[in-house]
Formats: sequence, structure tokens, C-alpha cells
Amino acid sequence: AGNDHDHYEAVIIGGGQAGLATAYYLMRAGVQTLILDDQPASGGAWLHVWPSLHLFSTSDFSNLPGWPMPKFDGFPTSSHVVDYLTEYERRYEIPVSRSVSVDKVDFVNGAFHLQSGTRSWIAKNVVSATGTWSAPFVPAFPGKFSGTHWHSSNYPGVHPFVGQRIAIVGGANSGAQIAAELSEVSEVTWFTRDKPRWMPDDVDGRELFRRNRLRALAIQRGERDPGPDSELGDIVMLPEVRRARDSGKLFATPMFGSLDEIRADHLIWCTGFRPAIRPVRQLLKHGQPKVPGLYLVGYGDWTGPGSATITGVGLYAKRAAKEIAASVGKVVK
Ligand code: FAD
Repeated sequence: AGNDHDHYEAVIIGGGQAGLATAYYLMRAGVQTLILDDQPASGGAWLHVWPSLHLFSTSDFSNLPGWPMPKFDGFPTSSHVVDYLTEYERRYEIPVSRSVSVDKVDFVNGAFHLQSGTRSWIAKNVVSATGTWSAPFVPAFPGKFSGTHWHSSNYPGVHPFVGQRIAIVGGANSGAQIAAELSEVSEVTWFTRDKPRWMPDDVDGRELFRRNRLRALAIQRGERDPGPDSELGDIVMLPEVRRARDSGKLFATPMFGSLDEIRADHLIWCTGFRPAIRPVRQLLKHGQPKVPGLYLVGYGDWTGPGSATITGVGLYAKRAAKEIAASVGKVVK
């Protein structure tokens, strides 16, 4: 029950996979740790993805440190991930205070003061592991669209769209997947800025994870970042996506210049996310922490290639945990 007397060696904002992986290493080192998470249950953003979403990564490519994801035949559903994270949290007795939205973090006399409404916590170290889901990005366009706006972050599945005209914006995986599934039941126009870059049919999503892993390991070894393998394309040819493309239902239309041009009942933005760093933004300079003891974990290329994936976040979680443990005279084993 947070009040001004609650002091921690480390407070983690966000109880998704990045927060849990970091807590795992901190707790192994005996660091006094608390996670503050604004969701009512375990699972982070996986609680909110659309119903048909499957991981690109099979269960053997979706492991957090310590305890691997239970086997799943094929590509796991989001509920399999939620169950995994729930069990992971329980298994390692990770302390999470739920439905706590951190509003603000201040750094005063060498300590962090975290605030949520009238509650507050003091910490020697803070890890921001807030993910991106709560910060959907929509690009600005002139004009006005008079139908209903959606974003992939609140796309509820095909139900409200059956038999209607749907404009979908965004040429990456979420755009391709949502356009593919809606093209079966509605009249879809799929707007992309560039031509969609399909991955070869015989390369599945695991390849993306192999690439990320190689990048992360090279960086860890202090070698040059080999960069993403941009030759390979970026849309994973899931069976539904391939079927829609091959049947001629899924094809891209060049981007509109103004929202006035869109003739549709619904407009679904599949235009990605930004890091949800509002609580710590004033403690960053040029995207880097400007005070000692603040860490950013899990935001992808910005904070570490592959760190926004289940299997990739462990390396970065461990790195942050090692420094935090050292700051309180402890060691991550
Ligand atoms: P999150 O899961 O978002 O967890 C952050 C937590 O912090 C959330 O509970 C959030 O509500 C909370 N929070 C945010 N702000 C605050 C605040 N101010 N105070 C308190 N709590 C806060 N990865 C894979 O490995 N395989 C895949 O196949 C895969 N598919 C993906 C498909 C989609 C459509 C998307 C969007 C991502 C996918 N990812 C995949 C990437 C990644 O695994 C997920 O985005 C994952 O949810 C990131 O975990 P996280 O812990 O960084 O963030």
C-alpha cells in the first residue's frame, strides 16, 4: 500500500514481459523490487491484442529467462502468452501492485519519487518497462474522415465490419493481417506508403527472431550491429495473409493525400506505436536517461534490437539488473 514510507531498491513501471524479466534478475540478486502496473491482471499488452492474433514466434522462440514458455503446437495465441506471463509471475513470486498507473517520476536528492494519484513510492532505481501499447501512433493528414476511426490497438476482430467498406492504413504486419482477415468479409482498401514487402513464403516468422538474436548477441559482444536484414522483407506470410494475397483480395493502394479522399465506413490505422514513456520523459535527454539509476527496457531498436520481443528482452533485462544490483552492493548470478 504505497505511501511515503515505501522505499525500494528498484521500482519497475510496467508488469508486461519486460518488467517481469527485469524483476526476475533483480530478485535473484536479492534486490528489493516492486512492479507497478496499470492493468487489472497479468499479461501486459497481450491482454488487449485482437482475437485472431497469433505470435510469429513459436513457443520455443518465446522464452523469458528462467522458465521457458510451455509448448504450443504451431504459433501461440495471445491467451497462451497471458497464461505464461501469469504463471511466470506466480512462479517467481514477483511482487506486482496492480491497477496502479504511474503519473510521474521525480528525481530528488539522489532518489526517485514515483506518484500515482495520491500514492507515492521512493526508489533508488527505476526501470521504465511500459511498452508501447498504450501509446498508439496515428500520423497527421489534412482533411476529415467522417466514418469511424480505429487503431490496431483497439481493433476488435471482424465483427463490427462485416459487409462494410473499410480503409486500412499501414504496410507492415498488423495492416497486412487485419486487411487479410477483413478482405474475407468486407470491402477493403489497403493503403500503404510503400509497396508491401512480403517475406518469402517459405520463411516464417521465426526467421525474424533468429535475426534479432544474432543482432543482440553481436552487440553484446561489442561487435558492430549487423543491422536488420532488410533484403528479406518484413511481412510474415502467415497462411491467412498468403491466401488473401494469392486470391487477389489483398493488394495495396498508394497512400491518400487527404482524409477527404477516403470512401469508407471505417478507417483502421495500423500505423504502429510509440514508447509509453510519459512518466519518465522529463528525466530523459535525447532519448537517454539523464540521471543515474533510471533504465529503459523493452522498447525495441531504440533501447536494444530485439528487446521488444519475448525471447529478446532477457539480455537487456539482465544488463539493467546487473547495474542496479551493483548500485546496492548485490550481484546478479
Ligand atoms: P507491455 O506488454 O505493453 O507491458 C507494459 C505494461 O506496462 C502494460 O501492462 C502497460 O499497461 C503498463 N503501463 C504502461 N504505462 C504505465 C504507467 N504509466 N504506469 C503503470 N503501468 C503502465 N513479440 C514476440 O516475441 N513475438 C510475437 O509474435 C509478437 N507479436 C506481436 C504482435 C503485435 C501486434 C504487437 C503489437 C507486438 C508483438 N510482439 C511480439 C512484440 C512484444 O512482444 C509485445 O509488444 C509485448 O507486449 C511487449 O512487452 P512489454 O513488456 O515491453 O510491454
